[in-house]
Parts: sequence; structure tokens; C-alpha cells
Amino acid sequence: MAPTPKECDYLVIGGGSGGLASGRRASAMYGAKTIAIESKRLGGTCVNVGCVPKKVTWNAAAIAETFKDSKAYGFNYDNLSFDWNTFKTKRDAYVKRLNGIYERNLGNDKVEYIHGFASFVDKNTVEVKLDDGGKEQVKAKHVLIAVGGHPTLPNIPGKELCIDSDGFFDIDQQPKKVAVVGAGYIGVEMSGMLHALGTETHFFIRGDKVLRSFDPIIQDTVTKEYERVGVNLHKQGQITKVEDLGNGKKRVTYTEAGKENLVLEDVDVVLFAVGRSPEIEKLGLENLGGVKLDERKHIVVDDFQNTSIDNVYALGDVCNKGFELTPVAIAAGRRLSDRIFGGQKDSRLEYENIPSVVFAHPEVGSVGLTEPEAREKYGDSVKVYKTSFTAMYYAMMEPEHKGPTAMKVVCEGPNERVVGLHLVGQGVGEMLQGFGVAVRMGATKADFDRCVAIHPTSAEELVTLK
Ligand SMILES: Cc1cc2nc3c(=O)[nH]c(=O)nc-3n(C[C@H](O)[C@H](O)[C@H](O)COP(=O)(O)OP(=O)(O)OC[C@H]3O[C@@H](n4cnc5c(N)ncnc54)[C@H](O)[C@@H]3O)c2cc1C
Repeated sequence: MAPTPKECDYLVIGGGSGGLASGRRASAMYGAKTIAIESKRLGGTCVNVGCVPKKVTWNAAAIAETFKDSKAYGFNYDNLSFDWNTFKTKRDAYVKRLNGIYERNLGNDKVEYIHGFASFVDKNTVEVKLDDGGKEQVKAKHVLIAVGGHPTLPNIPGKELCIDSDGFFDIDQQPKKVAVVGAGYIGVEMSGMLHALGTETHFFIRGDKVLRSFDPIIQDTVTKEYERVGVNLHKQGQITKVEDLGNGKKRVTYTEAGKENLVLEDVDVVLFAVGRSPEIEKLGLENLGGVKLDERKHIVVDDFQNTSIDNVYALGDVCNKGFELTPVAIAAGRRLSDRIFGGQKDSRLEYENIPSVVFAHPEVGSVGLTEPEAREKYGDSVKVYKTSFTAMYYAMMEPEHKGPTAMKVVCEGPNERVVGLHLVGQGVGEMLQGFGVAVRMGATKADFDRCVAIHPTSAEELVTLK
């Protein structure tokens, strides 16, 4: 006889950012009996193979850059070296500590945690394949799908020799030579970090510029800067074949800007960062009776995270809202629990003016509409203020070692409401959060100007733009 299913008010599938935030809120604040199911490691993409290990690696890369710059300030040192393996071991241990903290937090908030793989039996019932090979069923009135996504690899000969962004975090010795593919933020971040840490980096982008969904000032500045610092940028580039040369080395055949059959020898790592797909293949969605998906197989949700099936919700990277960011999944999850269990019937995340940062070299920060998007939406009422300059940090350096800073404020209407803010330069990631509050509140250019500058900083340029 099959064991009796467990019953709860709220069943959360996926122990990543969004699922955990929603489950903990429902249980701790509203007393909903909540069960969370995770098949891999708590914390999901962000903690294990995303934001967290990425930012720690970016920090290492930023330290390497600072060491390089320090000579211009009069520092002298011999034999600077970086031990990738020591760094990776410490980074892995940090992530593991976070996994433990996440598990304890679930316990503190009285969320029951089941480690296993969940799939739908029907809209209120999920079967969990447990680690010991057993199975159990869970029934719930409300079910949240927060299963995130996974990176995809293109179908090219030698695909099995390549890695994706998850694989980046398994690299245990510093590669001498890498090929990174993909002009989106993950490709830009990974090629930037590898280059800064001293790896010969070949970066393949499909067009002529990186970060194509960002404002042109960002595309232009980052593309030029990567070329200036010596990332080998292969524009209109595509890898067509990868061959094993033995000893972990690979031969990469590629095309670029009209040239074909070019070859890179002795490549240690070929890393594709060309897109992610929702993690729905084995979720048993067919047993839900026709949940609506979009053309890229994201689960379609309305403004309140409702799927097309009653009492089944989706959020984060698996849904079709387009902002694949940790704080977006967390915010959507908390608001959803406020609505379902906290009686706040209008509670929802507004998917606009969401700030985001690319940990490129230098950093990129962006909120709101790009200039082309604003012109399409508001036509001639758009006014743009922009500047580019050399930050004081570079004052001690020779001209060829000075990095760029660029800023653009996109305004709309007679009051010049700020509808977009686009920044590239040192420290803009931290800078953007505060300005994001102002943009969210509907600040105008005059509001920016009324704020007295902080001197000497780069941020002061944003409140003194002419
Ligand atoms: C390399 C990289 C860098 C990133 N950097 C940033 C950054 O700097 N800032 C930022 O905001 N965002 C960043 N992101 C994006 C961010 O990680 C995601 O947007 C976020 O993790 C999405 O959260 P989620 O809850 O939707 O899904 P996830 O965090 O992916 O969690 C989903 C969880 O569900 C589990 N799961 C899947 N299927 C099942 C199943 N059937 N049963 C049980 N469990 C299941 C998975 O194992 C996973 O743990 C980055 C992503 C990547 C890949």
C-alpha cells in the first residue's frame, strides 16, 4: 500500500532564492504549514553557481587589478602570484557554509525541508523521488513552482568538451588559455574575471558589441574597454568545432567577421554562456492539465504570479517575467506569500525600474529604460544627459592605463522625470542602489540637481550633469 501523502498549506518546489523566500515568509509570518523540496543544494543558482561564487571571484579579479594599478601609486612588489586552487577551495567552503545557514533558517522558520526531486501528479499533489531511492507524496492547497533554470550548450561537434557557467565554478586550476562565448552579462563577467586574473582570454561575441540589451553607452564603453585591456575579442565570432588534443588541451575552430576556419590551439577551457532554459523537463507539468508556457518554455504568469492553473504559482527564472535576478525572485516570493497567506490581496511585485549590475571590468549599473526604449515610448519628449570622464583613481596612471567612466540619465516630459540611468565605471554597482530608490520614487532631473554633490567621487557627476 502506498504511504499516506503528507499534507500542507503551501508546497514550494525549488529551494533557490525565490522558493525559500516565499516559503519562509508563509510559515514564519503567517503560520502556513509549509514544505519546501530541493533536489540539489539549498540556495539554488545564486548561492551555488551564480551570484555568490561569481562575486567572490570578481573580488579576486578586482584585487588583481588593484595590485596592477598600485605600481602607479608607488608600490613595489616582486613575485605576485595567485593560487587559484587555494582560492577555489576557500570559495567552495564559503558556499557550503551558506548551504548550512539556509537549512538552519528553514528550521528556524518551521518550514519542513525534503531533499528530493519533485514532479506533479496533479495540481495539488507532488511526488518526490528521495535520495534513498524511495518516493513520497505531498499534497497542498497552494503550490509554488520555483525551479529556476539551467545553462544551455549549442549543438556543435565537440560540445562534450565544453563547459557552461555551472562548470566555471568547478575549474580547479587556473587555465592558461580560455575561449568564452556569449555577449550577455554572464559571458562578459566570466571573460572579464579570467582576463583580470591573468588567463589568456578569447571572447567570442555574435555581433560587434557586448551587452546588447543594455543602453548603447554601456555597449560601446564596455566593448572598447575589453579591447583596450587586452581581452581578445572575436567580433561576429562563432565557435564551430572543438577537438581534444589530449592533456586537457583543445583545438577550437571558429569564424569571425567574414573569416572562416580560423583555429585556436591549446585552449584549456571552452566556456559557453549563451543562454538559459527553464528547468521544467521532468516536472510533470503535463499532469497539471495544460499549464500555459511561452515560446521559450517559461511558465506564463499574470501580474500576481498566478499560472493558468488555479492555486499553482510560478516565479523567478522559470516564469516569463524576464528579469532573471535573485532579488526579483525573492521580492516576488515574499509578495506572493503576503497575498496568499497574509490577506494582502493586492500584493505583487511591479516589474519595472528594477536596478541591475553587471560585474564587468569596470562595473555596469542600469535601471529603467535605455535611450532607444525611451525614445520609442515617449518620442520627442525624451531628453538625455550624458558624460564620460576619467575617475580620479586613475590620476596617478599613464594615459594608456586609465579606465573609462560613462554615465547617462534618460529623462522624459516637461518635468524631466528620470526614466533611465546607465552607468559604467568603478563603484557604480554600489552607487546604483541609492539612485534606484530615487528613480523608483519618480525623481526628476531637478531633484538630482538639488542634491548637493559629494566630492571627490564619481557619483557627484550624476547630480551636476548639464
Ligand atoms: C553565473 C550566474 C551569475 C549570476 N549572477 C547574478 C547576480 O550577480 N545577481 C543577481 O541578482 N542574479 C544573478 N544571477 C541570476 C540568479 O542566480 C537567478 O536569477 C536566481 O537564482 C533565480 O532564482 P530562482 O529561485 O528562480 O531559481 P534557482 O535559484 O535556480 O533555484 C531553483 C532551485 O530549484 C531546484 N529544482 C529544480 N527542479 C526541481 C525539482 N523538480 N524538484 C526539486 N527541486 C528542483 C534547483 O535544484 C534549484 O536549487 C546569476 C546567474 C548565473 C547563472
